[in-house]
Amino acid sequence: PCTDFDKAYFQSYSHVGIHEEMIKDRVRTETYRMAVLQHQKHIEGKFKLFKEHISLRNAGLPPIGLIVVVDVGCGTGILSIFCAQAGAKHVYAVDASEIALQANEVVKANKLSDRITVLHGRVEDVQIDEEVDVIISEWMGYMLLYESMLGSVIIARDRWLRPGGLILPSNAVLYMAPITHPNRYAESVDFWRNVYGIDMSPIVPLAKQCAFEEPSVETISGENVLTWPHVVKHVDCYTVTVKELESVTASFKFQSMMRAPFNGFAFWFDVEFSGPATTTGAPSSADEATKTNPSGGHRRKRANPDEALVLSTAPEDPPTHWQQTMVYFYEPIDVEQDQVIDGSVTLTQSKENARFMNIHLEYASGGRSFVKESVLR
Ligand code: SAH
Repeated sequence: PCTDFDKAYFQSYSHVGIHEEMIKDRVRTETYRMAVLQHQKHIEGKFKLFKEHISLRNAGLPPIGLIVVVDVGCGTGILSIFCAQAGAKHVYAVDASEIALQANEVVKANKLSDRITVLHGRVEDVQIDEEVDVIISEWMGYMLLYESMLGSVIIARDRWLRPGGLILPSNAVLYMAPITHPNRYAESVDFWRNVYGIDMSPIVPLAKQCAFEEPSVETISGENVLTWPHVVKHVDCYTVTVKELESVTASFKFQSMMRAPFNGFAFWFDVEFSGPATTTGAPSSADEATKTNPSGGHRRKRANPDEALVLSTAPEDPPTHWQQTMVYFYEPIDVEQDQVIDGSVTLTQSKENARFMNIHLEYASGGRSFVKESVLR
């Protein structure tokens, strides 16, 4: 059922500003465009578009001219048009927001009405009477899972994707790391200690609460990160279920690489655009490199992990509109080089609104332990 929360959610996508922000995020939009083109080249058998050896093993797809695509949450229609330009036979562009009306006009203006069908409705409600070869979607929210749109991609996959079909992106990884950000702390807190020569320190407790109670979306740099990140969640878009996204728990053990005030944790993600998975028993090299794979065991290996296109929102990579999601502490913890920070994080869809996310953090360092609850609204 479409709740009032969903209505408000779709309403938020009827404004042009949010689409402008996404489209102007060139890292995002160019990576999707390249993914579409790379896929086109795969199936046309041209090897050398981006790198020397793009494998053809994931080419169990029909020629592009026969390919049918669903764009889950088409917005202005940009990804659907990329797909049509790449030669797809037909694209179903689905969006529940009023922006779909604009998408339809854009499709007409580009004379693509015969190849792109805009469906104004929820993916959960619209009807598509054929199997599709490709699902494309830009579903990622802040810290990957905020907005809970992935559930709609899963529904589309289970309803329409033919066996062996392609999902773009194919998989995603959510990361976390402890961070130091003394300037941010000073700007929001120490500022009140001397305001035009006036001691306003009585405001400090309120300032801390207002600045650090809830998560904040902001850009940090690689220098803020105390050590290597841990994986919070691997998402394989071919196999992920709605159930496993309701609550995600990961434990962590970091070792600070420097002596610094430890101000909180940062979360970010990347998504990969590779071909359909082939099942193997061996863990992929990507899993070994990211060292934490709590579920372990039998994993699906991509045809081509080394060559896959990646859209990264990491602090050391070029900034995107997702930035990083920060959970700051009220008080910094001074850590020494090599000091251990361990604990766990649980991300749960909020009861008040499933599109919100509760972040429950338990962490310990230097013999003290802490708990922090926050909600990304
Ligand atoms: N594909 C576009 C827009 C991405 S934003 C682009 O890349 O620029 C996500 C879009 O998905 C929003 O426009 C939102 O309205 C839509 N959306 C989210 N959940 C949906 C659902 N369940 N059914 C239909 N549209 C959905």
